[in-house]
Amino acid sequence: MEKFNFSPGPSILPKEAFEETAKAILNFNGSSFSLMEVSHRGKDFQAVMDETTDLVKELLNVPAGYSVIFVGGGASMQFCMVPFNLLEKKAAYLNTGTWANKAMKEAKLFGEVVEVASSKDSNYTFIPKDYKIPADADYFHITTNNTIFGTEIHKDLESPVTLVADMSSDIFSRPVDVSKYGLIYAGAQKNAGPAGVTIVIVKDEILGKVTRQIPTMLNYKTHMENGSMFNTPPVVPIYGCMQTLRWLKKIGGVEAIYKRNKEKAALLYNEIDRSPVFMGTCVPEDRSLMNICFVFKPEYEGHDAEFIEFAKERGIYSIKGHRSVGGFRASTYNAMPIQGVQALVNAMQEFEKKIAK
Ligand SMILES: *Cc1c(COP(=O)(O)O)cnc(C)c1O
Repeated sequence: MEKFNFSPGPSILPKEAFEETAKAILNFNGSSFSLMEVSHRGKDFQAVMDETTDLVKELLNVPAGYSVIFVGGGASMQFCMVPFNLLEKKAAYLNTGTWANKAMKEAKLFGEVVEVASSKDSNYTFIPKDYKIPADADYFHITTNNTIFGTEIHKDLESPVTLVADMSSDIFSRPVDVSKYGLIYAGAQKNAGPAGVTIVIVKDEILGKVTRQIPTMLNYKTHMENGSMFNTPPVVPIYGCMQTLRWLKKIGGVEAIYKRNKEKAALLYNEIDRSPVFMGTCVPEDRSLMNICFVFKPEYEGHDAEFIEFAKERGIYSIKGHRSVGGFRASTYNAMPIQGVQALVNAMQEFEKKIAK
């Protein structure tokens, strides 16, 4: 029986990406040395860095005047690097969930943080739409996909100030107009590769404007000026990203995957909406294409653990919802095939037959 990994992160990757990475760990480019033991400054690894950077630029259509860098520390490190480099006086944040809160908490160490809107009172079941971004803010920070609550900002927002986006869980899942953003960051481990590296796309001209001293390693310029090689970069995760992005390019890039992602999400949301036993947790217009949250209807509560086991017997793994939402969360990242979603829908329908009154 085929097994499908619906984990929210680290999450499913294309099989060939980790197969190729495994090969390079055993024998990198026919050198008989492991990818893990060769110099990051050698020409073979330089080629990996260059290709990975170029793939990010090509797949997302990154315009001139932007740099792509790879850093460690996860997306969580960006919660402090962003304000360290960009916040002089005041920054605006849209509060759409747990990750947005964590980002705000760090920014408060550096200046005034204006929460322009929040959906906290509804347990983050929607993306706030009516708010004013202060024109004197240094930047406006959004979380484009809320991995835990299952909401997503489907359009590139207009912002009167520099727009900064945490795209950890939806980067490369759909086309974005990078020119609308000052800075985009994403931990690799949801859609781009293995854990251990964070992709940052930054518009060069927004940097160098704060008056504070920035520690060398936390300064974006350090990594830009040294081609992400100021210190030893996470070589294996970067190699894994390169393989994942090669796969994405081969299957038609971001436009093609967006079409697939919409089909997968529609299949599952249609079932959730049809089902007499399950229901969604978010307002339909803001539902995420990447993390699909659902619960049992109140009259069928109490079957969570049973359904998780039932699904596992049918090859469906890691669908337990985050504790702050409960129920189920199916993460349908780029590498999840539609067959996996179909298997989940089948399991939901079978389970319905078992329990429907
Ligand atoms: C997973 C996730 C993070 C945290 O990423 P780390 O790399 O573990 O620090 C931040 N933001 C979003 C939207 C996420 O999904």
